[in-house]
Amino acid sequence: MKDCIFCKIIKGEIPSSKIYEDEKIFVFLDVNPSTNGHMLIIPKEHYQDLFSIDENLIIHAVKIIKEKLYPLMRERLHCDGLTISQNNGFGQEVKHYHIHVIPRYQNDQSNITYNQDIILPIDQVYSILKRK
Ligand code: AMP
Repeated sequence: MKDCIFCKIIKGEIPSSKIYEDEKIFVFLDVNPSTNGHMLIIPKEHYQDLFSIDENLIIHAVKIIKEKLYPLMRERLHCDGLTISQNNGFGQEVKHYHIHVIPRYQNDQSNITYNQDIILPIDQVYSILKRK
């Protein structure tokens, strides 16, 4: 969709820290992470929210979280758990369906007000996740 920031990220018109991509979804680091490694999963096709998206895409996204993203977070970031959230309408800043995939650490204060002192620069997290 024209004027959608996430559609522009998919097309490469706006830069992003891409973690994973396939024919259906695109995954990148959130620019304002709640914890180190906070990712967003978006469908390549534009859907506004939970009420309009093709449910098969959600099933696919969950599979990718379980099989690829969480194992990567565990291996590279040594996280202790995972929080998944998804906003619709009120609280939804970007009107292109997205799932927040937030690795959790024992020292991250265990609620949504995380400790910003331990947030690393996004480039640093990206290079840890993507190094060969
Ligand atoms: P929500 O409130 O669920 O709509 O969350 C939108 C998220 O998108 C926020 O966590 C933002 O930090 C994130 N965000 C917005 N613009 C960008 C961008 N250009 N690259 C990466 N993340 C973004």
